Amino acid sequence: MHYIDFRSDTVTKPGKAMREAMAGAEVGDDVYGEDPTVNRLEEYAAALLGKEAALYASSGTQTNLLALLSHCQRGDEYIVGQLAHTYKYEAGGGAVLGSIQPQPLDLEADGTFDLEKVERAVKPDDYHFARTRLLCLENTHNGMALPLEYLSRAQALAKKQGLKIHLDGARIFNAAVKTGVDAADIAGFADSVSVCLSKGLGAPVGSVLCADSRTINAARRWRKMLGGGMRQAGIIAAAGIFALEHNRERLQQDHDNARVLAEGLSSIETLTVDYVPAQTNMVFVTLPPEAADSLQSSLAKDNVLIPAGRRIRLVTHLDIDRDGVERMIGLMRTFFS
Ligand SMILES: *Cc1c(COP(=O)(O)O)cnc(C)c1O
Repeated sequence: MHYIDFRSDTVTKPGKAMREAMAGAEVGDDVYGEDPTVNRLEEYAAALLGKEAALYASSGTQTNLLALLSHCQRGDEYIVGQLAHTYKYEAGGGAVLGSIQPQPLDLEADGTFDLEKVERAVKPDDYHFARTRLLCLENTHNGMALPLEYLSRAQALAKKQGLKIHLDGARIFNAAVKTGVDAADIAGFADSVSVCLSKGLGAPVGSVLCADSRTINAARRWRKMLGGGMRQAGIIAAAGIFALEHNRERLQQDHDNARVLAEGLSSIETLTVDYVPAQTNMVFVTLPPEAADSLQSSLAKDNVLIPAGRRIRLVTHLDIDRDGVERMIGLMRTFFS
């Protein structure tokens, strides 16, 4: 059964060529540092992101946690967006496992911090307070690419306040394609960057953390402690290499498809479509209340999958082509007519 699945870009499945790369991967014991494919992925990712070193891990949640644990000590604090993945969607790992206090702040509508608010949130050096050590940014946030000028101001602020920056770049290559700026230049505003291989890039599993060698060495120890040391992981790392080699540039197609979807849905009167120029592969749609319950099941009968709720996020990715988008628009027009 072929579904057109708009729920997330994590649903992408490896195609034939990626599976062949996995099947043919040379492997070894990565805990001994002897898996040539994992080593190749880490070197390649580090080079693409312009960092000294990289570490392969099971998920973006893990690479973000490794970054928190490597940058912060017990009793330190990180400033993070109220709706950022590294605060809201990672089960409180930094607090639970690192005794690191989050200081969440509201993000602006475009996914940026008001940097004056960030500056006010940095705590003075006083033993009443946790030590503010780290600023966490997210690019893309809700599918929006952050402006470079903003990243540059954030970097200047961090420098002035003695903070490190961790960039949750789960979709940094979407941001790179969108802005036409090299991913290494975007990552250059941060001390560390986490990149998901398993979203729009299409690998079945895995993320990489890229940073200087000292940070990556610390992260490698934490990864082992968390039970994240893997053995013949080259089998899955091969998919990551394939994804980075073949699926970065094509993200443009996903962005084009999201724009076509947004335009098509905008012509349906009862829908409110949020789609801004900085948007990459997501479209947010607010449904009329009476449709919120029935639309999902109606589309599912036509093998089209969407999330539940009134304000839904539709995500384009490499398993949805232009025909799939047109089909979705047609089904929505029929449903709302
Ligand atoms: C998906 C995602 C992650 C990591 O998620 P995993 O499912 O743990 O790989 C991190 N940050 C953002 C913004 C994400 O969208």
